[in-house]
Formats: sequence, C-alpha cells, structure tokens
Amino acid sequence: MGALPELDLSADVLTLTRALVDAPSVSGTEEPLADAVEVALRAVGGLEVERVGNSVLARTNLGLPSRIVLAGHLDTVPIADNVPSELRAVDGAERLYGCGTSDMKSGDAVMLRLAGRFGVPGAEPAHDLTFVFYDNEEVESVKNGLGRVAREKRGWLYGDLAILMEPTDGEIEAGCQGTLRARLETKGRRAHSARSWLGINAIHGLTGAVTALAAYRPREVEIDGCTYREGLNAVGISGGVAGNVIPDEAALTVNFRYAPDRDEDAAEAHVRDVFAEAIADGASFTVTDSAGGALPGLAEPAAAAFVAAVGRPARAKLGWTDVARFAAFGIPAVNYGPGDPTLAHTREEHVLVDRLQPAEDALIAYLSGSSA
Ligand SMILES: [Zn+2]
Repeated sequence: MGALPELDLSADVLTLTRALVDAPSVSGTEEPLADAVEVALRAVGGLEVERVGNSVLARTNLGLPSRIVLAGHLDTVPIADNVPSELRAVDGAERLYGCGTSDMKSGDAVMLRLAGRFGVPGAEPAHDLTFVFYDNEEVESVKNGLGRVAREKRGWLYGDLAILMEPTDGEIEAGCQGTLRARLETKGRRAHSARSWLGINAIHGLTGAVTALAAYRPREVEIDGCTYREGLNAVGISGGVAGNVIPDEAALTVNFRYAPDRDEDAAEAHVRDVFAEAIADGASFTVTDSAGGALPGLAEPAAAAFVAAVGRPARAKLGWTDVARFAAFGIPAVNYGPGDPTLAHTREEHVLVDRLQPAEDALIAYLSGSSA
C-alpha cells in the first residue's frame, strides 16, 4: 500500500481494467488513483493535462473543427470483499469480478486506451478529444468532481458531443430523465378520537392527493427515436400522533421522473397541477430535491455519427446521470459503456470480458473517422 498504482496504457483493455480495479478508490479516497492516471496521461506526450482536486483532465489541441468529450468517474461505492479483481468463467463466458468492474473502471480503461492511442504526438483523430476522469460521483452531488470542473474549469467540458462511459451494456443510452422530489403537507386540528367531530383529520386530508396519484396516467414521450417513460409516485407517507388522537399533521412524499422535454420548472408546475385540489384546500407543497434531465440530442451530427459507429439504435436513459451536467451547457451527451448497469453496486459486480474490446473498437472507429 502507499505505492502509486502503475497504469500501462499500452496494455490491453482487460489488463488495464484489472489494474484500475486493483487500485481501490472508494469515493473520497481517489487521490492515489488520480495521481496514477495523471502520471500516465502526462507520459502520453501529446496531451494538455490539468488537475482539479482529484479529477484529471486531458485534451488534444489539434485545431480540429469538432471536439468529443469522454468522461468517467474514478470512484466506486464501498468495497464488498470484492477487491482484488478475479477472472472466472461462468457458462462459458469469461467474467471479471470486482468492485468497479462495471461501474465504471472498465469504461475508464477504455478511455485510457483511447488517450494512449490518440494523445500521442502525430496521432490523427478525426476530432479533438477531451478526457475527464472525475471523483466523488457515488456520493452527495455537492461533492461531485464533474460539478466542480463545471464550476472551476468549464471551458474543459465544451465539445460537440459528450460520451459518459457509465455502464450501459454496450448500448447507447441517450440523454436522461429528470427527477423531482416534493412533499405535500396537510394540517388539521388535533382532538380526542372519542370526540373526533371536534378535530380535523390531516391524514384524511391527503385522500384526494393519493387518489390522484393512483389514477395518474404517466406519459411516454418519444424524442429522437428514444422512448422516455415517466412516473409520478408516492414514495413515502407519514402522520399520526397516538392511537386515540385525530392527527393534525400528515405528509406525502412523491418522486416524479420525467422526460427531458420538460425542464425543472415545467416538471414542478405539472406536479403542482396534479395536486391542485389539495393545494387549493390549504396543503403546502415543497420541492425538496430537483435535477433536470438531458435531451438526447441525437439529431446533432456528432451524435448521429456515433450511433452509426456503434451500429445499433440508441435507447432512452431512464435514470438521472451526469450527462445532464453537459446538457446544461447545451452539449448533446450520451451514456455508453461496457459495464452492466444492473450489477453496479452489488457484491457480485462483474463485467463480461467480451464486452470490453468491442467498446474500445467502436470508439476507435468513431474517433478515427473510419465509420463515417
Ligand atoms: Zn457510475
């Protein structure tokens, strides 16, 4: 321990993934790995390298008319007895087990391979390239390294397309949905339940809101050929004082996952609208958490060319991801990575070894312009 992990960018993508996984980097402890990534990127020779906290940025400056940004987080969730990595064959398919194999050191390894290939002096990529390796993605969003880069070095994030290498099973997942959490609170009047007519029941006051949710018909929205499925759901309900008291307070917590054709204000207005009756009757409505979505932007030429290079249609990203941070600057952004999103954060986390090389190859084809 203590020695800097060594990252050999000329090693194959599996070897590089293993080297990254075997250098633990739980959120908040990324520094040694960030140091190793910085050392490796500086050694490439043709890259401008910058450090922002434990995020490492690198880019080519070839004066090309377009720029592609590749981004990946270096941190993982806490290790679950699954480091170092382990190669195992299951049902005839090789799997690499370990914390971060899917989410998302296999994606980082692909990025490092690309930096090593296209960042050397004399390389001729079809686009200028920016690589963003950032810290603290798996924790509270105020710590997010990409957010810090956006605040302190925003110019580094500009490009014609951003590719976030989060696990997507090798499919392109475009844009992302927005998410809003809100609390609806009703007030009543406390009374002894033996003389309930003297009170006003705050829990009963939520009836209309709960009924509206149960009857709610969410939209399915098609944008650029991707179908975004919305959902508005109660995720919590609280109230009650004692078994013999008419409660004077109750609260309903809802989560709205919405298609990126709505912005944050429109999403809030919509939820308020669903609860219009309760609000008119005096319930208070408070947004507790909100993050806007990202439009897929697949009509942009740089994005369309990437879809063509991967050779399969893009699908909608239903969860919220950091692509929204790029979308906020008007940059089309997609998720694309070799990992399996359903294995992220699990003890059994692994990546299928035969997903790694195709991801690298598709990006080489796209970035060298040979797929156009
Ligand atoms: Zn991730």
